Amino acid sequence: MRPLEQMSKKNLVKIKMIVFDVDGVIVPRGTKIKQIGNTTTLNTKIIADKQIEQIKKLYKKGFLININSGRGLYMLQEMFRAILPFVSLTYENGSATWYKGKIYQHINSFEETKDIFPKLKKVKNKNIKGFEPKEFIITIHCEKEVKEIEKIVNKEKNLCTVWNGEAYDILIKGKQNKAIGLRQIIKIFKLKKENILAIGDNFNDQELLNESGLPITADKNRAKGKFYVPLEGKFLPADVLMQKILSLY
Ligand SMILES: [Mg+2]
Repeated sequence: MRPLEQMSKKNLVKIKMIVFDVDGVIVPRGTKIKQIGNTTTLNTKIIADKQIEQIKKLYKKGFLININSGRGLYMLQEMFRAILPFVSLTYENGSATWYKGKIYQHINSFEETKDIFPKLKKVKNKNIKGFEPKEFIITIHCEKEVKEIEKIVNKEKNLCTVWNGEAYDILIKGKQNKAIGLRQIIKIFKLKKENILAIGDNFNDQELLNESGLPITADKNRAKGKFYVPLEGKFLPADVLMQKILSLY
């Protein structure tokens, strides 16, 4: 892995689409969620004006922009409201993609998840903060790992848990991840792997990065890439990357 400063225009000649993970990359890590009974309080992070301008500039230079996140569509639309005409949104770890008001569903997880949801809802543990509203995956925010959740999920042969330091995502094993979403995007836009630059910071981004021609990690300890940017620098990782690309064009 090399520092991003060493990326040159030669690395970018084939790149047509830039894929951004969201948390830790375009906005700082961390979700504020609180659930008491049937009331869920969820804080929405909005992307900064500077990143909006950078994304617009990249779009004007001819790059397609894809946001690939574990978050739900309702939340991504809110976060990226100012640039929706310029981006496609792949949400819930590759489950579906929104593009110009049209939804492409990549997986149907209903059968696999319908019976486990009530079981997980019954788990009582002081470290559970709440279930983030999602359509295709189950996301449970916790202060720290809760072994009982893992035990329940591990009994289901089709399901797995991915812990990202603040939440569990419960997904269909091998069929529901960011890479599968990216493969579908590549088809929709008639691209090839070599046309994709992807940046991510977490364990669930490794498959995404592997599926791209030019992978960039924003956390060397959690994901490997061709280049790396620091997670906690003066600027957010997406900011550093966009500054670099724009400086080369
Ligand atoms: Mg992330």
